[in-house]
Amino acid sequence: MAPTEEGLPGPIERPLTDSHAHLNLSDYSRDREDVLARAGAAGVGLIINVGFSLTTSRESIRLSEEFDHIYATVGIHPHDADKADGRAIDSLRKLAGNDRVVAIGETGLDYYRDLSPREAQQDAFRSQISLARELGLPLVVHNRDALDDVLAIIDDEGASEVGGVMHCFPGDADYAREVVARGFHVGIGGPVTYSRKGRLVNVAAEVALRRLLLETDSPWLTPEPHRGLARKHKRRPRNEPAFVADVARTVASIRGMDPADLARATTGNAMKLFGIGRSIRPSIAYEMWGNLYLNITNRCTNECDFCVRYESDILWGYNLRLAAEPSVDEIMQAVGEPARYREIVFCGYGEPTVRLDVVLEVGRRLRESGARVRLDTNGHGNLIWNRNIVPELVGSVDAVSVSLNAQDAATYSRICHPTFGEKTFDHVLSFIRECRKAGLEVTASVVDVQEVDLTSVRALAGELGVPLKVRGGQ
Ligand code: SF4
Ligand SMILES: [Zn+2]
Ligand SMILES: [Zn+2]
Repeated sequence: MAPTEEGLPGPIERPLTDSHAHLNLSDYSRDREDVLARAGAAGVGLIINVGFSLTTSRESIRLSEEFDHIYATVGIHPHDADKADGRAIDSLRKLAGNDRVVAIGETGLDYYRDLSPREAQQDAFRSQISLARELGLPLVVHNRDALDDVLAIIDDEGASEVGGVMHCFPGDADYAREVVARGFHVGIGGPVTYSRKGRLVNVAAEVALRRLLLETDSPWLTPEPHRGLARKHKRRPRNEPAFVADVARTVASIRGMDPADLARATTGNAMKLFGIGRSIRPSIAYEMWGNLYLNITNRCTNECDFCVRYESDILWGYNLRLAAEPSVDEIMQAVGEPARYREIVFCGYGEPTVRLDVVLEVGRRLRESGARVRLDTNGHGNLIWNRNIVPELVGSVDAVSVSLNAQDAATYSRICHPTFGEKTFDHVLSFIRECRKAGLEVTASVVDVQEVDLTSVRALAGELGVPLKVRGGQ
């Protein structure tokens, strides 16, 4: 069973990412190395340096060639849209051929400053979307006082095909949902630290974790407390990537999360979006929400339309694509000290019960060492093994979370494409009943996608006598 909103990586020593900075600017010409050293010390391991004209795009690439952990984007800002003619777009295309370039932008619309005619801004935005689609690169979108027009152009030009990030997020929580529904991420930076309430705080609280990126927009938009301190000492409040740690602390406290989890998750989002770090070592065990998750197989007897494993190998910074299925000993070694976790959960890029013997043995050993163990499963175990496996689970797991996923067999088959065909859904229901009968703690789960009628699924879970957990579908 693949993790959805819960669940992920380990091998990232410096877990923070600044997904939007302009370190090529002359603001840093005297102390760039120091700025980067401070970023490293603050835990920043990845920086996306954003171009906003041909010159700054070239400078971004140069910087990314100099520093391994800096990647570049190339684009023409709406302020300069009147310069984005065919030749300029050709130049961007050539620059984007450099393998350090991970996105097109920043591009978009800025009706606040209106430094280029609006028609020129729209044309430049459209041609950069088309370039991004041609090259298969995501977009970095700047959007100021142009909420409706930006969405309309994203729709018109098919920008959802490549997605991207709307940086320095300009809208409210409803707008964030619109943006996420179009395959875009929400970039949050310094302004979230300026006030304890308001639209940006709501966005930071509500946006789906896997669509969230943190940024600084250095040298601008310095977060608190640095902005206030600079003013107090009558200094210009220059922002720098190290301060993304302050953004992370604020967003983590708004979401009630551990800042380390947030850092790792948003770094994973950035890596996935920008196609960076495919070389991350696969994880058998990964930490999140104070739990440890075990990724013991990539095989599954469903092919759910919404399964995150089809989207990327990387989930929240961990690579869950296994090179080989781990042995019991390898799993125990990956767990380390079981007492460190609230719960240890069998949940990765596959269905754990296809390796029933491993679940039973690892679960038993973990429980003997005092850990609480949960199995996240698609509920096909009895079909896979052609016998009732539930009595065997008792003693190896405390709790079971079963993906109910639909209100009826036809819907289940349509969205989960089970190997065992239409009869599968009834077996999932009887698996849930068997687990209850055996005295295990049972939860059902459903992913909130269009085909699912949540009211009926709730009623069904009620009939089965189990609580239902609804997970985000976007
Ligand atoms: S295909 Fe479905 S059941 Fe299988 S791992 Fe993905 S979400 Fe879970
Ligand atoms: Zn911008
Ligand atoms: Zn910018």
